Amino acid sequence: MTAAPQVKLKPGDTIGILGGGQLGRMLAMAAPRLGLRCQVFSPDPDSPAFDVVLNATCAEYADVEALELFANDVDVITYEFENVPAATAMILAARRPVLPDQKILETTQDRLAEKDFVKRLGIGTADYADVSSAAALHAAIGKIGLPAVIKTRRFGYDGKGQAIIRKGDDPDQIWADLGTKSAILEAFIPFSCEVSVIAARSADGNVECFDVTENEHRDHILKISRAPAGISDALAAQARGIAGTIANALNYVGVLAVEMFVVQADGGPKILVNEIAPRVHNSGHWTLDGASISQFEQHIRAIAGWPLGKPVRHGPVTMTNLIGDDINDYEQWLTVPGATVHLYGKGPPRPGRKMGHVTQVGATSPKSA
Ligand code: AMP
Repeated sequence: MTAAPQVKLKPGDTIGILGGGQLGRMLAMAAPRLGLRCQVFSPDPDSPAFDVVLNATCAEYADVEALELFANDVDVITYEFENVPAATAMILAARRPVLPDQKILETTQDRLAEKDFVKRLGIGTADYADVSSAAALHAAIGKIGLPAVIKTRRFGYDGKGQAIIRKGDDPDQIWADLGTKSAILEAFIPFSCEVSVIAARSADGNVECFDVTENEHRDHILKISRAPAGISDALAAQARGIAGTIANALNYVGVLAVEMFVVQADGGPKILVNEIAPRVHNSGHWTLDGASISQFEQHIRAIAGWPLGKPVRHGPVTMTNLIGDDINDYEQWLTVPGATVHLYGKGPPRPGRKMGHVTQVGATSPKSA
């Protein structure tokens, strides 16, 4: 990996954020506490992040002139989503430092490249195979067995672009339905729980990990995160070590999330890496109220070239996502003792749309996995 650009912001400087969703919004809310300003770039006029910044650029990611003007206005550029088009990142990087380095996106935008990268580091993943045709899918099933999970290599999120293949299913039909020419087939992992590590790395190589988080999904979308995860201290240390190894190998600057499966194996529980998100992550939202420093502030510090914080957790924490119509209960949540409610200011709720979240400190008794 190439060296990350050197950045040293001072109070009053401006951070450019690509993407105007809730992650961009919460990043933009964390910066002013440190005396930094933010400018958000998003093609969506209804971007929730626009509500919390003074200066916003509403333009397409292919709009070269808008990108150039945006770059001129800011001192460093970061992003809230991993699918930043390569051309967009290149145009911006020619004018201002982009952190995390845009070359990292080449690895994390492609599930095959990402899995190869993790495997090269000696870190466990589900067995996987490259699939680019129906014939290749049959061959991959022969190698990996069933059940298995097929995933598009690019642009998959919240369970979109993936399907489980079970014995008796028609692989040709599943391949046709997936509608892609590049996918990977992964062994189905009978995990005992899913965990994630939110790690921050500064340009000088310091890594700080938040406590390991245990995640519960409903309909492929994160519903509840609990910190600490109900796993042993040794396994948690291993999980944090894996995240640190990945951050160092990418020469990463900023916050990243590593999603992992905990599997009960003969020699005891082990960890397999499922996915890397080169950005702040939903499973780290608990840090806003549950720790002395949030993942958003940690990211801002890292890309500003400032020292990372040493986050201290305030107790057991539960984060509950308000998804779709869950938002209609926000007034009830407002009355729950100890609950902190975060609403993203989005338009109408749609099924699967993340509308807000609630953090409760001290409300968890982590199950022991
Ligand atoms: P992903 O888009 O890769 O993060 O997958 C979304 C969710 O699907 C994960 O959080 C798991 O709950 C499930 N999943 C993904 N890959 C596998 C796998 N290989 N085995 C079992 N479950 C999986």
